[in-house]
Amino acid sequence: MNGIIFENICKSYNDTNAIKNLNLEVKQGERLILLGPSGCGKTTTLRMVAGLESISSGILKMGGKIVTNVEPGERNVAMVFQNYALYPHMSVWENITFGLRLQKVSKEEIQSRTKKVLSILNLSGFENRKPKELSGGQKQRVALGRALVKQAPFFLLDEPLSNLDAKLRQQARTELVKIHELYQPTMMYVTHDQVEAMTVGQRVAIMKQGLLQQLNTPDMIYSRPANTFVASFIGIPAMNLLPVECNDSALWIDGTRLELPAKWLPLAAKKTNLMLGIRPEHIVVTDSCMLAGTADFIENLGSQHCIHISLPHNGQNILCIVPAEQIVAKGPIQLSFSWKHISLFDAISGENI
Ligand code: ATP
Repeated sequence: MNGIIFENICKSYNDTNAIKNLNLEVKQGERLILLGPSGCGKTTTLRMVAGLESISSGILKMGGKIVTNVEPGERNVAMVFQNYALYPHMSVWENITFGLRLQKVSKEEIQSRTKKVLSILNLSGFENRKPKELSGGQKQRVALGRALVKQAPFFLLDEPLSNLDAKLRQQARTELVKIHELYQPTMMYVTHDQVEAMTVGQRVAIMKQGLLQQLNTPDMIYSRPANTFVASFIGIPAMNLLPVECNDSALWIDGTRLELPAKWLPLAAKKTNLMLGIRPEHIVVTDSCMLAGTADFIENLGSQHCIHISLPHNGQNILCIVPAEQIVAKGPIQLSFSWKHISLFDAISGENI
């Protein structure tokens, strides 16, 4: 089985604990995204899998074997780097076939694999060009091609699209998913772009300061964030987080009493101070008021408007997204939401209850 298993993996650089006790299983053939802010340990994690970074403690298994101390060349891994790392003096053909020639793969095999990859990546006709004669998107595809011809069971990508402009990035995301479905390698993909993570990933691992915060499908991460960090990291704009007090069967938000639905009662009864999470797109501007505030500013996002609202008592700002057709004026505003869209977090630990 060509999965990747991290068992209690730690990585330190002198006095920096870059990875803290990582336990994670990447299933055979899945696309797993490592997502998190700069410095959280994404690249370190990927480089440990590639064998380019030593592991301070713990066990790494690939394809059912312990590879913690196995040399990079013996791990059967193909990797795409952020800067593409193409050889500038070699043509596209030479760049893509370099690894296969080193491995002494037969000429016929090299020809057939490379032609197929060039055609999949829309690079046929570019075989003789040097990297400096290619656009950013073409270079990125050559880098992908060089990894793909290896037909390795493990495919590692470190921010492969970050040098592309927004439009090319969108196309490349779709291409990547299609290519993955064709070959189905076990894929680990590092990004700090949440849109990329949510569109490319079958599961997403969110990291912060070397610690895994949540591992789940994009849908679950969006709808059931494990803690307030994930809640505020995923979503554009981020989830609103409001301090609330729980009293008997009610929640108090900014001086307003809201009766809790039955499902929350046993959980909420144990805690008094909570954080209520609600996404801007799940707040409705309506006459059936659950919460009142003041619309201070209305941002035009094209098909939607983002309304900046301040609450009267604690002055907290919240954001609400409405369709552009809905006319909303500055001034007093009434809001409501459905309990099914609510997340409640422990105010101290930040954990989802
Ligand atoms: P980015 O998104 O900015 O690339 P990242 O999530 O990939 O960040 P890493 O590059 O894995 O983060 O770095 C994790 C931590 O380890 C950081 O605190 C970083 O400063 C530290 N670090 C990484 N490489 C080294 C190194 N060679 N020597 C010392 N510290 C390092």
